Amino acid sequence: MQSAFDIAVVGSGFAGSLIAMIARRLGRSVVLLEKGKHPRFAIGESSTPLANLLLEQLADRYDLPRLRPLTKWGTWQQTYPHLACGLKRGFTFYHHEAGREFTDDDSHQKQLLVAASPNDRIADTHWYRPDFDAFLMNEARELGALYLDEVDLWGVNMEPKRPVLQGRHRAQQLEIHADFIIDATGPRGFLHRALDLPEVPVPHLPPTQALYSHFVGVQSRARDCSGNTLKRELPPYPPDDAALHHVFDGGWMWVLRFNNGITSAGVACRQGAFDLTRGETSWQQFLDKFPGVRAQFAEAKATLPFVHVKKLSFLSGEAAGANWALLPSAASFIDPLLSTGFPLTLLGVERLARLIETKWGQPDFATELSNYSMQTTMEIVSAGRLVAALYASMHDFELFRALTLLYFAAASYTESARRLGKPELAGETFLLGEHPTFAARCRSCAEAALRHPTGARRDLLLRAIQQAIQPVDVAGLGQDRRNWYPALAEDLFVNADKLHATRGEIQAMLERCGFN
Ligand SMILES: Cc1cc2nc3c(=O)[nH]c(=O)nc-3n(C[C@H](O)[C@H](O)[C@H](O)COP(=O)(O)OP(=O)(O)OC[C@H]3O[C@@H](n4cnc5c(N)ncnc54)[C@H](O)[C@@H]3O)c2cc1C
Repeated sequence: MQSAFDIAVVGSGFAGSLIAMIARRLGRSVVLLEKGKHPRFAIGESSTPLANLLLEQLADRYDLPRLRPLTKWGTWQQTYPHLACGLKRGFTFYHHEAGREFTDDDSHQKQLLVAASPNDRIADTHWYRPDFDAFLMNEARELGALYLDEVDLWGVNMEPKRPVLQGRHRAQQLEIHADFIIDATGPRGFLHRALDLPEVPVPHLPPTQALYSHFVGVQSRARDCSGNTLKRELPPYPPDDAALHHVFDGGWMWVLRFNNGITSAGVACRQGAFDLTRGETSWQQFLDKFPGVRAQFAEAKATLPFVHVKKLSFLSGEAAGANWALLPSAASFIDPLLSTGFPLTLLGVERLARLIETKWGQPDFATELSNYSMQTTMEIVSAGRLVAALYASMHDFELFRALTLLYFAAASYTESARRLGKPELAGETFLLGEHPTFAARCRSCAEAALRHPTGARRDLLLRAIQQAIQPVDVAGLGQDRRNWYPALAEDLFVNADKLHATRGEIQAMLERCGFN
């Protein structure tokens, strides 16, 4: 089979299908090429307020109304109850020590709960990727993208003006001519190998590994972990309805519950911290070390073979050329910590969509791609620096907790600015990377944490973090809330000036979002 298209998208995960849909809406002919077959397992499940806002804005801008209900738990349940997902009200962290039961008191020193939404209706979700990705792929097809699965691509010829993808589709030879190739095949994916692109280290990040699977029979342990022994006060949200993190020296574990009885769980840690190479055996040995986690998995059974990823982080030396681009998820990966994968990828989708919308066929298309490449790399490096600082602090939970607030402050400020229609306040770079004060301060705090400060230097760093977040803190993160941070409208009203907004503008935004 031989065909010609404006755009070939390689990889039909959520991101490949999404950019294919947008390209169709912009009038481009599109082929979407997939190695496997839907529905299929994919890792990377926990969305965030910023990820959902980006998805919502892409759905609005490119007239994709069927995607909009997927951006909130409530509308998802109403519109697509047959697509499994999980309820995510926030980020829950518990700190564990090897060999010890988890205990805490009402000061919550061993925990951090940061609410992302005030109610279930407008809450975020964990995407059950077999359902979610198959749905998006079908949407891309409905919009006219030619979808070919079970494709085996073995190369790309970049010599002709129009690059040619070569491979096989089932029993047939395949030759696809495309003006522009978008690689959405994930880290160390198709173009990275076909173009022999260099891999470069993500600066500061220690080498990390992961072991994960899907399970049934996982217990709810978060209520026992709440530490609120006298049960005088309720946490800001049920701690299990969240991205639940068990943090320990050298790594952390995620637990994400879906509404179909399945729970996604896995460990990410420094190479050498634990032996994770032996699947189920390593998993059980890991649980045996942490009694505070083990009970949660006492009855659990894996529903899929365990996956061990020897080296998690990845950065391609280039993310785009004159007529090709890697989505951020193909150009890089940092770590699942802080769920940066989706927002970074969606920012990349947003940028490529703008390029196709405004620069298609124009001489500066290639120049703009080169800017895209630089911006993609820059964002990974700065997000990677913060994640590296968190890895360096996992033994010191007070410092770890403070560092996460840099992320939460930047993310909630960006979300609020965009929702207020003032995106320029947050700039175009992830985690306020262009902000006049925050960007430099965040960087310097992360660098200080990487030097493993103790004593007075550590105290200084804790104060520097507070100073860094203060100008952009619109979520009460600087308040002493004993590490339980609810999502309160009042925090936005009190901090309206930081968003250059009136009380009325904040009120209107909250009503638009269904906050009350
Ligand atoms: C352990 C782990 C946990 C994570 N957790 C989170 C999280 O909680 N939140 C978050 O935001 N991010 C997370 N991420 C990141 C997240 O997984 C990615 O951002 C996301 O999956 C990217 O989606 P995608 O559609 O670009 O790629 P993928 O989901 O990787 O899909 C790639 C597709 O391309 C296909 N493909 C591969 N090679 C070829 C080829 N040669 N030809 C054709 N098709 C091909 C594959 O079959 C697949 O369908 C996590 C990542 C890891 C490794």
